[in-house]
Amino acid sequence: MKRYNLLLQNIPDFVKHLQAQGEVLAPHTKGDNSFSFDKVTDANNVILDYNRTLQSIRKFFLPPTERLLNYSLTENTFTKVEIENNQRIFLGVHSYDMQAVLKLDFNFSDRTPEVNYLKRRENCTFIGVSFEPDDFHFSRSVGITVEATEGFDIFLNRHENGYEVQVLTERGEGIIKGFNALENAPELAETNRQFKNKIKFNHNRLPEVMEQSWKSPVWDEVAKRCVGCGTCNLVCPTCYCFNVVDNVDLSLKDGSRDRHWDGCMLNSFAAVAGGENFRETLASRQRHRIYRKFKYITDKTGDPWCVGCGRCAAYCTADISIVEIINQLSDEFEQNYLRKSAAPAEQII
Ligand code: SF4
Ligand code: SF4
Repeated sequence: MKRYNLLLQNIPDFVKHLQAQGEVLAPHTKGDNSFSFDKVTDANNVILDYNRTLQSIRKFFLPPTERLLNYSLTENTFTKVEIENNQRIFLGVHSYDMQAVLKLDFNFSDRTPEVNYLKRRENCTFIGVSFEPDDFHFSRSVGITVEATEGFDIFLNRHENGYEVQVLTERGEGIIKGFNALENAPELAETNRQFKNKIKFNHNRLPEVMEQSWKSPVWDEVAKRCVGCGTCNLVCPTCYCFNVVDNVDLSLKDGSRDRHWDGCMLNSFAAVAGGENFRETLASRQRHRIYRKFKYITDKTGDPWCVGCGRCAAYCTADISIVEIINQLSDEFEQNYLRKSAAPAEQII
């Protein structure tokens, strides 16, 4: 791995160097307190010191709405919408959002590959950046450190005067080639960025906790506050459910097939023909959301499917915290099962 130093005053030139090689997508301010990943048009507007973006970079691979195909009912034909896979450089991605992309890669490659997503994932370069954990981040509790570099081509680690640049892949070397404003790598003291927000147990115990939590009173307690708005699904970087809808023109000659994000916290999500709904109560929907993150896919892959970004709590309409839910379930598990067997719960550091 090659290491360099990038001074703060040289960042706009670095962004321009990237722009010469492809479309650059990076965090920008949005409104007074939010950040958003958008296409860079002015290098001076890129923000690398930010807590989290409202949406992760998932939106570039799985757009909130997209046309899949157009069809003619009179000619009985259809045309698929072409997906572009131009060179795109994602600058300023946090480690947990990179991990979320790797998880979506698994979801969309497993069994029947999802070709639109996979085509958009081609030709992408990822440049990560470190962050200071705030009251909502808990990625360390799900095994993702601030400085985790898996998936990145280049990683920028913040220090007092700028960034230590770690070049991690051949693609990263190619991207940085010709940028002459880099200096020798700084000697940095070991960083120890602390997370205030923590899951009580080691994450590898959570499937066991979930196993015993199906009938927990916690689901009803959380449901009393939850309004079922679905925000937690829509901002989650590892949620990937979508709905596909046929829109037939009033002429009954043409139509389109479109898909849009869906969310398991929405009442309509599990509704089926005949007026039935498989998860009618908010408690059952909340349980499903949490089991999707810490049980169902975890049983299959061995990994939690939550990356600890904190978005679902930061943007929840009712101040519901996923960490509080997990810790309440863990307390119950400890009282009901661990104490009986006198086995100590494994604490995370
Ligand atoms: S964002 Fe909060 S209130 Fe809305 S569905 Fe999720 S948990 Fe419920
Ligand atoms: S469940 Fe919440 S904390 Fe976990 S990845 Fe999704 S939005 Fe982030």
